[in-house]
Amino acid sequence: MLRKVLYVDLSKQESYVQDSHDLFEEWMGGTGVGIRLLSEESSAGMEPLSPEAPIIFSIGPLNALFPVATKTVATFKSPLTGELGESYAGGRLHLAMRFAGHEAILIRGRAERPCYISINDGDVRIKDATSIWGIDAQTTGMILREHEPGVGRRSIIRIGPGGERMVRYAGVVVDTYRHFGRLGLGAVFGSKNLKALVISGTEHVEVPDIKKYREVYNRLYDTTVKTDVMAKYHDLGTSVNINVLNWLKGLPTKNFQLSSFPEAEKISGEMFADQYLIRRMSCAGCPIGCVHIASLKTAFSPHHEFEVRKVSYDFEPIYSLGSNLGITSAEGVLQLIDSCERLGLDVMSSGVVLSWATEALEKKLITPEETLGLDLKWDDVASYAAALENIVRAPNEFYSVLARGADYASHRYGGRDFAMALAKNEVSGYHTGPSSIIGQLVGVRHSHLDNAGYSIDQKAAKKPMDPETMVEAIIKEDDSRGVFNCLVGCLFARGVYTEENIIDALDAVGISRSHEDLEALGRKIFDEKYRYKAREGFDLTKFKIPERFYQTESTLGMISPETVQEMLRLYRKKRGWS
Ligand code: SF4
Repeated sequence: MLRKVLYVDLSKQESYVQDSHDLFEEWMGGTGVGIRLLSEESSAGMEPLSPEAPIIFSIGPLNALFPVATKTVATFKSPLTGELGESYAGGRLHLAMRFAGHEAILIRGRAERPCYISINDGDVRIKDATSIWGIDAQTTGMILREHEPGVGRRSIIRIGPGGERMVRYAGVVVDTYRHFGRLGLGAVFGSKNLKALVISGTEHVEVPDIKKYREVYNRLYDTTVKTDVMAKYHDLGTSVNINVLNWLKGLPTKNFQLSSFPEAEKISGEMFADQYLIRRMSCAGCPIGCVHIASLKTAFSPHHEFEVRKVSYDFEPIYSLGSNLGITSAEGVLQLIDSCERLGLDVMSSGVVLSWATEALEKKLITPEETLGLDLKWDDVASYAAALENIVRAPNEFYSVLARGADYASHRYGGRDFAMALAKNEVSGYHTGPSSIIGQLVGVRHSHLDNAGYSIDQKAAKKPMDPETMVEAIIKEDDSRGVFNCLVGCLFARGVYTEENIIDALDAVGISRSHEDLEALGRKIFDEKYRYKAREGFDLTKFKIPERFYQTESTLGMISPETVQEMLRLYRKKRGWS
């Protein structure tokens, strides 16, 4: 397997390929290669929206070869947090990169005019995108599909108006219904005048021992489809968690003022499946199909016929644009997801920013003049949809501030106690206990998926754990996910990819690693990421945890600030940090 990096410079309008065998040998692929390239290819303190700022897409050695090894990781400096930006997306991108023969792509520079990158095997072109600048992400995909080669082996990733206008939490839409949602990759695209990237290829992938490969493939496939390890993702999908978390008192509601939502049933996974679900889809190479698509009937325009829009949903958007905004209908949630989709905004950050603004208006920290007359109230779908448009259009200073995130807005207008962000990243949909808070705060990208602290809390609800045991569980998960993210598999498939299966799968593609090798790699990647974060000014002791976490009952009861501080102290000690 050739292990190459494609470099594209938008300022110089040139590209070249480098054989980077040693880089992949040392850092495996995916997130390992991503963080290494980001550290090497950017200077300390570099502005995330400057031309020099690199974007790195990378896949790992199992992508396109084994089931559910379906993701691509994007690594960049986040314009939202000012430090490590890391985001994962499914779809067809991993497959297209493999077939085009590029295990990593690094993009830097800024084009003079709107452009898109077209990669077809070794043919790399930077093309004019003036005519599609300003167009929403879905329509952009439809247009590029008509003009670019590679049907069936192609991936199209693109931004909407939110990215073009550099909203700090704008995302990148991948194919249809998948996203690099978090931490503002869309804004980095926009800062480069980069509307889209289209990639396809025809390269043949060799494996050294086809018999061994088939044996491991079949084992992984059978575990995926013939056991119940992944069944829940196919059935109701992650939206099953709405009712579960509501019952556990862990579902953030009205900006975390409550942890259960009396109207949860109306926006539950069961309700979506019963009334709105029209089909399920899969990322390329996954037999599960957890991507749930709903139909949303909307007026095409005032006094005109209806159109039916297809909207994907799962747990996180239903929390952030549903319970967290007090929305009491599945249709209302779908309308807001659709707004974010058209504008190209991250659903989680958008929902948390709107919930902060709702409470800030209630508390008179902001005025109706600032909201331009929008009376942001819980369950007011129309006002929230209009506010999202304003965040992208930025018609006044208030909306420009909202475009920089909840933490930034609270520094400007007040309300820091209820600006629900940890280390500047808007939080996920779990008010389960202290591990969820610590997990997101210490996680390399401040995501619930860094170490699944929410899951540790839920285990502690069944069998009590002391703070030290929780911290040890967070560290173990941090490091093992570092390894898994080098392979860039879907995190839902972690039950399939046991360590034994990972070692065998690597062996089947000619990469020999022991248990000890993988453990060391996980630690090394974590350390490299924290070195980068520290270099960019990240300091764990600097962040204020919003008081709201301590004011609302969680799955594990009231959370005490002392417990959280003690866990932070233990975390630093066990990591060997002063
Ligand atoms: S389980 Fe879902 S997110 Fe994961 S690879 Fe399959 S379809 Fe994609």
